[in-house]
Amino acid sequence: MSDHRRLGRELELFDTDPLMGSGLPYWLPDGASVRHALEEYIRSAERRAGYQHVYSPVLGKRELYELSGHWAHYRDDMFPPMDLGGEQVVLRPSLCPHHALIYRSRLHSYRDLPVRMAELGGMYRSELSGVLGGLSRVRAIQLNDAHIFCTLDQVADEAQAALAMIRRAYAALGITPSRYRLSLPGAGGKYVGEQENWGRATDLLRDVLERSGLDHEPAGGEAAFYGPKIDVQVVDSAGRESTLSTVQVDFHQPEQFDLHYIGADGARHRPVMVHRSIIGSVERAVAHLIEQHDGAFPAWLAPTQLVILPITEAERPAAQALARRCENLRVDIAGPDRGSLGARVRENRKVPYQAVIGAREASADQVALRLRDGRRLDPMPAAEVLDRIAAIVGAHRPELWGR
Ligand SMILES: [Zn+2]
Repeated sequence: MSDHRRLGRELELFDTDPLMGSGLPYWLPDGASVRHALEEYIRSAERRAGYQHVYSPVLGKRELYELSGHWAHYRDDMFPPMDLGGEQVVLRPSLCPHHALIYRSRLHSYRDLPVRMAELGGMYRSELSGVLGGLSRVRAIQLNDAHIFCTLDQVADEAQAALAMIRRAYAALGITPSRYRLSLPGAGGKYVGEQENWGRATDLLRDVLERSGLDHEPAGGEAAFYGPKIDVQVVDSAGRESTLSTVQVDFHQPEQFDLHYIGADGARHRPVMVHRSIIGSVERAVAHLIEQHDGAFPAWLAPTQLVILPITEAERPAAQALARRCENLRVDIAGPDRGSLGARVRENRKVPYQAVIGAREASADQVALRLRDGRRLDPMPAAEVLDRIAAIVGAHRPELWGR
């Protein structure tokens, strides 16, 4: 594994500027391509799993976070409030309070549950500048977040389905978790809600881990202030562990926001909130992907998926014609003006597919394909190559080619 900050600069994925400020990286075009592919994958996986997407603002009134409990329990990590015409607004430290208000804005029957509300949304954390660096610790965070409002009976299935989504995403992304952690409260008074609910939520999450056949370790002092959680942990190039994905059970915020649904008995009942994130923040996920793959992303995520290498200028028209046929792929042509064939192959060593076109290939509408892992395939019809790559990319398969 190599440091994502070095690779990020070398591969021109992201950078920072002292005038924007530390912990506020910007994304260059190649980094933005990776991020866009990742966000699209998440949105489509969520749509297929029955989530509905919303947008909510990155600011809220201070009272909102007083109600949610963030102001009392999380203020040290929040930016100071801004005075605005007699009221105070804050950059949000999480999306939960906004989603609770959106749920509350409509009447819900037990037949509508579970309501699965998802958003890739901005949130902010006032990290100290000493700990900032690259994409793994930032002050402006794009979170892949969702809240499932459901009955107590539905919590286990919803949490288990969320965990299954996380494992599918990791398979597509080529991420191996270092461990699953059952994060429990520790000593001290920073936890809210009744003891009975904490016990119930913990039992539910432990059952979900066991039913999923996952080894896990309990960790005191790592719970959210409102409830216990399953954390999926990864390790970075420096050996530091951090949380990427999480599934949490929360009885507290539904209480605070007085959320309800109408039951089969016609009476009002309190839903439970399951908080879950498949890849955590986009920044940390991409930081981890850069390190895990040493900048050589799975084909579906790669900034450039196919580079076409005409051997001489005579094959440039054939290269251009091939590029025009790659409708849904991110393609680049590296012609002889960019150096010898060997130099161009080296320069594009992180690109999963390299299509070499010589005189023979050009006249036969064929391609001599080189794979990033060093394999060199015999010349094949161009259409066959493009179909195969499109199928691998479209299915988010982690392997380059198969057998
Ligand atoms: Zn939440």
